[in-house]
Amino acid sequence: MSRPSIQIQLSEVTAAIREYPEYKNSLELHRRILEIREPIEALPTRGTSIRWDRKLPEDLWKHLYSDRRTAREFLTASIFDKKLATDICQKVIGVISHHSVNGKNLIKVSDALAEGKIDVRKALEAIINQVEGWFDNEGKKYEIVPELLFFIFSVPLQPCFEEISRKLESSLLDSWWQSPCPVCGGTPKIAWLKNKKRYLTCAFCGTQYLMDMFLCAKCGSTDPHTLGYLKPKDQSGLRVDFCENCRHYIKVIDRDKLKREIPLGLEDILTQSLDKMIQNTFREMKEQRKI
Ligand SMILES: [Zn+2]
Ligand SMILES: [Zn+2]
Repeated sequence: MSRPSIQIQLSEVTAAIREYPEYKNSLELHRRILEIREPIEALPTRGTSIRWDRKLPEDLWKHLYSDRRTAREFLTASIFDKKLATDICQKVIGVISHHSVNGKNLIKVSDALAEGKIDVRKALEAIINQVEGWFDNEGKKYEIVPELLFFIFSVPLQPCFEEISRKLESSLLDSWWQSPCPVCGGTPKIAWLKNKKRYLTCAFCGTQYLMDMFLCAKCGSTDPHTLGYLKPKDQSGLRVDFCENCRHYIKVIDRDKLKREIPLGLEDILTQSLDKMIQNTFREMKEQRKI
């Protein structure tokens, strides 16, 4: 299973705004970002120099299926259209600068992109090669938290990564058995339970891949004394699997027990109550010196 088309995602987020008023602000922001991506999603290239409306390129297929390496490691920033990527980032900044306390600083980033002081491809390269220092440095320069900069510059990559995800076969996804997402290499924070199997689900590109239920997806711990789970009292179908060893957690959605539907692509937003719950629990455990 991968994410549906952008049109379906847009109609689902619109429905979710009605059904989940408690998450209205996050959902409306998400809808604005999807709207920015919509013209790129209509292109067979998804904003790159590669056409994705056909089979996966032979060398990418080999890279994933034979070499078991993530698609991210195959891609380079040079395949992304500089003008389109710059345009997307500026539009994203236009949307979030209204909601951010750092709005004015964000506008400076947008100006720096227009003036060529920031090369969008350098930012994409930093994401693709996982060079976190780039975001730390630019964040300091413009007084913006690195995570927010990372979010802005990751949007131009999303249409291409989601499309690669749609093309992967279950033979790969059921036997990947590695923690990083096979497409974008991200650390998973969501999982779906289906037929008593846990499918890690990438919050960025939507890829779902099978993983052992009793294994921390970050540090690889299988020690039952350090792995635990928490269930909220009032929301059946949801739980959090956590690891005391590295404090990573996965928000788990049991498809068969859910009372309210959670569309693909909205999992992270519609389970924000679980983040609060586990963070409180971690705080209490720390106070009791359990972790
Ligand atoms: Zn991913
Ligand atoms: Zn762990």
